[in-house]
Amino acid sequence: MQSIWESRQFHRTPDLVVIGAGIVGLFTALFYKRAHPNHHVLVLERGPFPSGASVKNAGFACFGSPSELLADLDKEGADAMLARVENRWLGLLELRKELGDAAIGFEATGGHEVYAAHDPLYTRVANGFDALNDLLRPIFKMPVFHWEDRSIARFGLAGMDHLVRTSLEGPLDSGLMMSVLLRKTLAEGVFLRPNAEVLRFEDSPMQVTIALKDGDILNAAQVVLATNGYAKELIPTIDVTPARGQVLMTAPIPGLKLKGTFHYDEGFYYFRDHAGGVLLGGGRNIDIVGETTTADATTPGIQDALECLLHDMILPRTPFTIVRHWSGIMGMGGSKTPIIERVSPRVTVAVRMGGMGVAIGIRVARKAAGMVADRPLQ
Ligand SMILES: Cc1cc2nc3c(=O)[nH]c(=O)nc-3n(C[C@H](O)[C@H](O)[C@H](O)COP(=O)(O)OP(=O)(O)OC[C@H]3O[C@@H](n4cnc5c(N)ncnc54)[C@H](O)[C@@H]3O)c2cc1C
Repeated sequence: MQSIWESRQFHRTPDLVVIGAGIVGLFTALFYKRAHPNHHVLVLERGPFPSGASVKNAGFACFGSPSELLADLDKEGADAMLARVENRWLGLLELRKELGDAAIGFEATGGHEVYAAHDPLYTRVANGFDALNDLLRPIFKMPVFHWEDRSIARFGLAGMDHLVRTSLEGPLDSGLMMSVLLRKTLAEGVFLRPNAEVLRFEDSPMQVTIALKDGDILNAAQVVLATNGYAKELIPTIDVTPARGQVLMTAPIPGLKLKGTFHYDEGFYYFRDHAGGVLLGGGRNIDIVGETTTADATTPGIQDALECLLHDMILPRTPFTIVRHWSGIMGMGGSKTPIIERVSPRVTVAVRMGGMGVAIGIRVARKAAGMVADRPLQ
């Protein structure tokens, strides 16, 4: 039995239900609410708080390392590569403007890619380097990447011979980012229902009916699915494959030289400084099949590979203690382009961030919210 107050405020039929309280789901709800202040917008999240990749990544604000961009250029041509870089770069600028650099812990300490001299990747990057900077110039209005081999010693790295730097990238604090975004979304009138796992939804001409794990059934006028790496659980045919990324973190290291964000081995490894220690992730290429999973776990094989990299390259001859391991689930698929689509008159999906949702999440969300609102949103 609901009181009139409950049924008017909390149990009214939502105009929009967003499934998933990650960066995409929260921004989608926020942008839609701004466009329709009188609509009831509800976010359903299965965790007690946001629990997906948005709070499990390594906190990188980056738009693509030279080796990634040159590989994309070879595979897809200049237009597709440039469009993707521009989307990521504009996404990062919009994110920083919307939430504020200090509020999300963004540090403009630079992004880097490192190579050993004998690595064929180095030769490929060296050969394509100037042409890549020329192609990127219209987006950044400056040469974006610079060789800075002398910084290898400054950062205390061993076994590496070449380093490329851009001053336009840097680390951020994903926890701060998501907590600021969550508070902003709630403050602007969106409702959040945590511990609300969606088991299935059914579309009909009048409404979407949503079944929750706790037995509750909700109806909504519109639904946006923003569960990224978990999308297949609700739409089994969708082209989104879960891709687990494992991370570890060390205790603070006295005199740590590392500063900024770093990519190595075609981006399969990424590391940065955080709170005086090192945060290192990657190694998915060691076991692509095993890491195609939504299981919230780490594995000895990949964690050992990460530890070896710490010993051999990032913290040579430096004692360290690992204080934390975790993993997060990304959403990949046949294309690096996200799926932002109305799949039926009342259901829109905004998934497959391709491991770049920090950069593109805000723009994906704006587009998804615009689709629901039936007009582009600024
Ligand atoms: C280790 C790692 C490193 C990364 N590095 C980078 C990087 O360098 N640059 C970059 O831009 N991005 C990076 N990413 C990717 C980025 O974090 C993601 O693309 C982004 O956070 C995805 O956001 P999302 O909102 O789409 O999904 P998520 O943050 O995963 O949110 C989905 C939410 O849906 C909820 N959910 C799932 N199923 C249900 C259900 N049935 N019912 C209710 N709720 C449900 C989940 O609990 C979760 O909170 C990285 C990710 C990882 C894990």
